[in-house]
Amino acid sequence: MHRILLCEDEENIVTFLRAELEYDGFAVDVAPDGEDAMRLFTENEYDLILLDIMLPAKNGLECLREMRKTSRIPVIILTARKEVYDKVAFLNAGADDYVTKPFDTLELIARIKRNIARGTGEGAPSVPQCLHICKEGYRATVAGNELKLTKTEFEILTFLYDNAGKVKTREEIIRAVFGDFYGESNVVDANIKNIRAKVALHTDHEIIKTVRGKGYVIQV
Ligand code: CA
Repeated sequence: MHRILLCEDEENIVTFLRAELEYDGFAVDVAPDGEDAMRLFTENEYDLILLDIMLPAKNGLECLREMRKTSRIPVIILTARKEVYDKVAFLNAGADDYVTKPFDTLELIARIKRNIARGTGEGAPSVPQCLHICKEGYRATVAGNELKLTKTEFEILTFLYDNAGKVKTREEIIRAVFGDFYGESNVVDANIKNIRAKVALHTDHEIIKTVRGKGYVIQV
């Protein structure tokens, strides 16, 4: 069982997130302030840390810098939308990932699993080591090479990436990428074919798998 340290002072977030994580099979310890976070981090072994930026006693950035002196444990930052400019400071300080509140729990859990797998080498070769997506910059890279994707291809790839490990049907992909537009479902097949061809220029790893009769999935 993987063990997570949730450093968060907002009780409603703690309550629902702890329940969701435990439901998903994680063991969860909660630190309501930065000093508790550092104490629990020092006393116990964790597989991943969820770290809120605005924590009492010692803020998230101070905690992260201290943790990074001794540990490469995966750390996902929880940010509020207005704190968006702090992202760079956290990534520079060694954060592995961040999510913006209010976040989608399924997306957060997918990110947690990806980061734990990356940290332990479980399930290698893991997709994130090979595929990176920068949503703000509309860039996707495979093994360090930028993919020249159309907007639709980028959005399909991002949707599957955000839902890594879950099979998505053609209809779900169309709904996510085109909104209300219900096109021919072979629009998805054509775009996936193009994405695969572009990925294949840089890696032999099959990033998007076809699940016959169901849809597509990026495996974690
Ligand atoms: Ca807070």
